[in-house]
Amino acid sequence: MAIIVQKYGGSSVADAEKIQNVADRLVRAKEQGNSVVAVVSAMGKTTDGLIELANQVSTRPNRREMDSLLSTGEIVTATLLTMALRSARHRAISLTGAQAGIKTDASFNRARITDISPKRINEELERGRIVIVAGFQGITEAMDVTTLGRGGSDTTAVGLAIALGADRCEIYTDVEGVYTADPRIVPEARKLEGIDYEEMLESASVGAKVMHSRAVELGWVYNMPILVASSFSDNAGTLIHGGASMEIRNKVSGIAHDPNIAKITVVGVPDQPGIASSIFEPLANAGVSVDSIVQNASVNRITDLTFTIASNDVDNTMQIIKPVAESIGAKECVSDSTLGKVSVIGAGMQTGPGYASRMFRALSDEEINVELISTSEIRITCIIDEEKVPQAVRALHKAFELEAE
Ligand code: ADP
Ligand code: ASP
Ligand code: MG
Repeated sequence: MAIIVQKYGGSSVADAEKIQNVADRLVRAKEQGNSVVAVVSAMGKTTDGLIELANQVSTRPNRREMDSLLSTGEIVTATLLTMALRSARHRAISLTGAQAGIKTDASFNRARITDISPKRINEELERGRIVIVAGFQGITEAMDVTTLGRGGSDTTAVGLAIALGADRCEIYTDVEGVYTADPRIVPEARKLEGIDYEEMLESASVGAKVMHSRAVELGWVYNMPILVASSFSDNAGTLIHGGASMEIRNKVSGIAHDPNIAKITVVGVPDQPGIASSIFEPLANAGVSVDSIVQNASVNRITDLTFTIASNDVDNTMQIIKPVAESIGAKECVSDSTLGKVSVIGAGMQTGPGYASRMFRALSDEEINVELISTSEIRITCIIDEEKVPQAVRALHKAFELEAE
């Protein structure tokens, strides 16, 4: 019997009626002759609510406790979905990440899967049960509960699909697939039939939250095809796959955005060897990922160092670098959390010229100021004012003619 792994995100399980809809879909998949494993997220905005609660009782919630707290959100969904199935006389069982055999390292809030032992899942499937796994979580060797980072249920699903030898992993969400831009911002965005791992990974890592970037990375490494489709319809979704893109390669595949970017500037830094590492090493150790970095040309051997991070890392970052800045003799550290970023992604960009200039022209025509620029082989990213992000996404979508085939 073929094993299929389906993941249902928060908005697909937001209330009892939606959980019932997922139950019906799982029964259908089972009745088609499959062994069915479902990975579920917390209901609606539950995770945000739990974080909010933690912040009400503590200014810096303990990271271990935070992970145990957040893991409960997906357990609620998994148990309710199982109850719905059982009350309709279908065989089903829920498992937490730990019970499902998902082992992780001990980096709380952003743990990485180190191993999956799917013994229990396989036993339950053999007993004819639909297995519902709480997403986004695992357990360390020391038996501490961990979570995989926001959006991490996608990664649970892809990891399980690989460990169970499924043919593909199906991610069901509130949009019908991967589009040329977030369809909530660009109504003309076009659904892609397929996208390759590299382009999807690049988009996801700069903000296309339709997929957790680590899920795409995992799929790529193990060559696990990932279908992204709607949990509310049976329309064809988007297949994330290896090999040449089904879209024309020599082209931009999409526009991604992230409205939550902050810029930190260390002002008046002495320009000498070792300064950059003394600033960035402690940040790396604290797990803060730093994006664009710009060092101004120095005047009298004094320079400014600017870099960008996710806005929710600002407090942590400032706490870490203020003492460092002081010790290296910098004048001050300032932060600006009102930024966002827009990115143009496409495998075709590495061979064709003119993409950057077209991007800058489109932004300047909208009178949008570019604060910082960063690039990869297949991506150009501009840091801009957060408020201008939707306008910029729409302008770029138009400038790169993504509405039309
Ligand atoms: P889930 O709760 O199912 O995991 P998410 O909210 O994490 O869903 O991801 C789905 C959302 O991703 C969509 O509602 C959409 O607004 C957003 N999104 C951003 N970029 C894209 C894109 N290129 N294609 C489709 N959806 C996108
Ligand atoms: N519930 C978690 C979150 O909101 C994980 C997920 O939905 O994938 O980030
Ligand atoms: Mg998600």
